[in-house]
Amino acid sequence: MAPLERHQETTLSDVGGCSRMHIIDKKTIPLSESIKKHADHATNNDFDVGSFPVLPWISAIMWPFMLTVPLLLNTPGSPLHYSDIFPESWYNIHNTNDGSSNISSSPKPLGLCLGLITVAVGQLLCLFVFYFFKYGFLSSRYGEEPLSIQTKGARPYEFWEGLTTHLSQPEGFVLLGGYLTGTWMFQLMPAAYYSFEGGIEWSKVFLCLVIQDGIQFILHLLEHNVSPAFYKYSHKPHHKFTNPRLFDAFNGSMLDTICMILIPLYATANLVDCNVWSYMAFGSLYANWLTLIHSEYTFPWDQIFHLIGFGTPADHHVHHAFFKYNYGHLFTWFDRLWGTYKKPSEYAPKAFNERV
Ligand SMILES: [Zn+2]
Ligand SMILES: [Zn+2]
Repeated sequence: MAPLERHQETTLSDVGGCSRMHIIDKKTIPLSESIKKHADHATNNDFDVGSFPVLPWISAIMWPFMLTVPLLLNTPGSPLHYSDIFPESWYNIHNTNDGSSNISSSPKPLGLCLGLITVAVGQLLCLFVFYFFKYGFLSSRYGEEPLSIQTKGARPYEFWEGLTTHLSQPEGFVLLGGYLTGTWMFQLMPAAYYSFEGGIEWSKVFLCLVIQDGIQFILHLLEHNVSPAFYKYSHKPHHKFTNPRLFDAFNGSMLDTICMILIPLYATANLVDCNVWSYMAFGSLYANWLTLIHSEYTFPWDQIFHLIGFGTPADHHVHHAFFKYNYGHLFTWFDRLWGTYKKPSEYAPKAFNERV
């Protein structure tokens, strides 16, 4: 192989690891050796933002994609602003002739429909990006599979099979859609949720995510510990995946989804007063984040998430592989408080890859 001229970088660290000196000298080294050095560097457990290639970061577009519908419909100046495309009578809950609220008459389905579309569009766009991520189109080296979390590698599967299984299993989006439709149309949601006034209230969205995950954490602990019979019928089906893939996120049992997703959703709705836009944003961020933490690969932003205690696929793989740790999903804070948090790096390099 023809040698390429590259910059060879040597890093020296002092014994305490507090300071570093980088020595750059220009040498001619073979490409194969360069690739090996790249791989060696990639297994270094230190966090170094500067070492991240740019291309995989394109997959971070998933996060704003989750909010496509509420951002398009409720950003001032948007050509698709909801007030320009829907009649006021479809969303105004205070337009009765006598000036009183008509929320108690019959719920208007527009908010529900937009909420369902928000989650569906966010999910499909995220899965679209994940396809390109998984098959190496967003790799710094074209066509290279991303770093799997477990050393045994990602489970092989056909993307189409994974996608159809994920979207069609009754305990997943089917049950979730039924819950959202039922609570909306039977007016079981607090009155504020039916309001289109205002924009996305970001602090409330964040509060909803934290409360949802906190309640889900408690119910997850209970599912594991109340009784072997309860565990068997509720959560055990989800634990057949010791090396999960992204599409396993909602694969379990009806009882598991009710306990760990629907009860926390209903409790959270009654604890935080959101408008319809904040509810949409929270719902989509929650559903998509829950999906992403089941990814068989690590994402470029995971090291930052580890630093601030946001849940990553590696954190959740610890739970699937070793059961007794990391009961939280979106945040690791509750496990840290409860004493059940295990860093994924503690299982490297034997069970998990470095830098996950
Ligand atoms: Zn899981
Ligand atoms: Zn579990």
